[in-house]
Amino acid sequence: MTQTAIKVAAIALLEQRRALTSEELTELAALDDLSVPALAALAHEVRLAYAGPEVEVEGILSAKTGGCSEDCHFCSQSAAFDTPVKATPFLDVDEVLAAARETAELGASEFCLVLAIRGPDQRIMDRLVELTGLVAAETGLNVAVSAGILTRDQAFELAAAGVHRYNHNLETSRSFFERVVTTHSFEERVETCQHVRDAGMELCCGVLLGMGETVAQRLELIGQIREVQPCEVPVNFLNPRPGTPLQIRKPMGALEAIRWIAMFRLALPSVILRYAGGREITLRDLQALGMTAGINALIIGNYLTTLGRSPRQDLAMLDDLSMPVASLSAAI
Ligand code: SF4
Repeated sequence: MTQTAIKVAAIALLEQRRALTSEELTELAALDDLSVPALAALAHEVRLAYAGPEVEVEGILSAKTGGCSEDCHFCSQSAAFDTPVKATPFLDVDEVLAAARETAELGASEFCLVLAIRGPDQRIMDRLVELTGLVAAETGLNVAVSAGILTRDQAFELAAAGVHRYNHNLETSRSFFERVVTTHSFEERVETCQHVRDAGMELCCGVLLGMGETVAQRLELIGQIREVQPCEVPVNFLNPRPGTPLQIRKPMGALEAIRWIAMFRLALPSVILRYAGGREITLRDLQALGMTAGINALIIGNYLTTLGRSPRQDLAMLDDLSMPVASLSAAI
């Protein structure tokens, strides 16, 4: 079974250049732990064949932290939970530009402004439009934005202002979503993804693994991510935050994380698959292994509310792996 399922996937992706069916993905997900290195090796081959050896490096900035009206059970920025993260106002222009310059100096090509909000009002839209122009002019970085649920008109306004990519995660499968978010629906997330693509921005649509979802729900999520057709998929692993309803969950094991990185690459061969939050506590010493299991992009520096390892360490890892830093653009 091991050899057969992996061989079938290899022929489909590398020779026939066709997408794997959901049945084929289900068979791969059922392989035992001993097969994970073979699964990862195939995912790496597929990544090289479809996307090349380059790695896209991005810095993210929490431009408005905490106090969010939504109740995503994994998030320490929700006002619904008593967490150590306190609400702070929108950073001023100088702070944003300083962070963007720092990101550019590290050789990154993307800079993402992230806001902890349900969705932007007109005042926030005006700030985002202004900052997008300033950051691009000052640093030459591609500007991405993550500001929650968008109306169709807002998506077109951001696209016209030069926002290159918009992040809006599905996070988890439709069937598990209500267990972790009750203040907005899965369908609202899908709708925003659609507006982003219609407006001509690249869609970045990520996942958060390890919240208690089953294997079947992870496979369901893969199917739903394929449907929204993202250019980029950030893979987050739950980092249980104090005060949130998911604080008692144990982080996912490293081998399981590698298995699912490989699964996402095999399901989405040409997508930009980005290491995002939680990789340090989940993968620990296996972080480089993820880079040879399908990952071809990194968030460097700190995350929104947690610290990442030093950017120099990540850049040294890419150097050791002979993976050049470049700007990528892809679709499934
Ligand atoms: S994940 Fe985003 S929308 Fe949900 S509570 Fe956190 S900041 Fe708000």
